[in-house]
Amino acid sequence: AKACGPNRSQLFTAELHAQLQRKFMLETSLIDAIKREQLMVYYQPKLCALTKKVIGAEALIRWQHPTEGLISPGEFIPIAEKNGLIIPIGEWILEEAIRQAKLWSIKEHPIIVSVNVSILQMTHTNFVDCVRQLLKQHKLPPHLLNLEITESMTTDITFMSNVLHALKSLGVSISIDDFGTGYSSLRYLSQLPIDTLKIDQSFIRDLNIDNQSIIKTIIQLAYSMGLSVVAEGVETAEQELFLIENDCHELQGYHYSKPMPLEHFETILLQHFN
Ligand code: C2E
Ligand code: CA
Ligand code: CA
Ligand code: CA
Repeated sequence: AKACGPNRSQLFTAELHAQLQRKFMLETSLIDAIKREQLMVYYQPKLCALTKKVIGAEALIRWQHPTEGLISPGEFIPIAEKNGLIIPIGEWILEEAIRQAKLWSIKEHPIIVSVNVSILQMTHTNFVDCVRQLLKQHKLPPHLLNLEITESMTTDITFMSNVLHALKSLGVSISIDDFGTGYSSLRYLSQLPIDTLKIDQSFIRDLNIDNQSIIKTIIQLAYSMGLSVVAEGVETAEQELFLIENDCHELQGYHYSKPMPLEHFETILLQHFN
């Protein structure tokens, strides 16, 4: 080993230390993020594959940190799930999305707003009551709210089924996010009251022969079960063509638009609605 400079294990330790420090710093400042109005909602359009009109929007959270800049949910949602802050954060974005969906419906651009819901939110709070109350408070027609869920191995299927049935009876729709990956198992499909399968973007990204057959199979499965099917992560005209040719219902991805702050999204909405 050379005598000069830090050795590999020292570098590793320094790197790990920096990572832990950032995590700790984020965890501490996340506590006040809602109160300090640092959380923001970005919206990404969902298009009808047939008409190419905007028929929905997915609400995606962002954190505008005073010193660290814009932080992606991929970094802070896992922290929030560990320390329980996902409950107030999830409630906050749900209300923002419902309020916005109501405004769009009044402005005669009724689009369905999708909100990502963490399994923890469903299991650790009276989530159904929360949704019911927010719909009522903002007078939102429930069919304009869609909830995107990702199932996990630890999910109690009976409990989940009860929660989803209760949500369905409120009139909102349910999508399975990242379908085809992780723990999304076929058994769940027959037991849970689901409206939509959202094909995971990893299948779309690389349209190799295997992924093509997986996508076709998911679309057929959705059709045979009377579900609708959305593709996310559509980035190219080639991917779009493949999905349209195979009768995917809805499309979402950078090919149409990245998730955007409200003002920018509304410009797109006005251009592409009706
Ligand atoms: P997700 O729900 O699967 O969302 C899709 C992610 O893919 C988003 O990343 C979106 O910006 C990105 N994306 C959309 N179109 C494309 C594309 O064409 N190409 C590529 N490469 N990416 C695309 P984002 O916004 O960073 O969110 C990451 C994840 O964080 C989400 O994955 C979701 O699991 C979670 N998340 C975001 N907002 C919330 C929230 O309000 N609550 C909860 N519980 N989770 C959230
Ligand atoms: Ca999602
Ligand atoms: Ca997804
Ligand atoms: Ca995901």
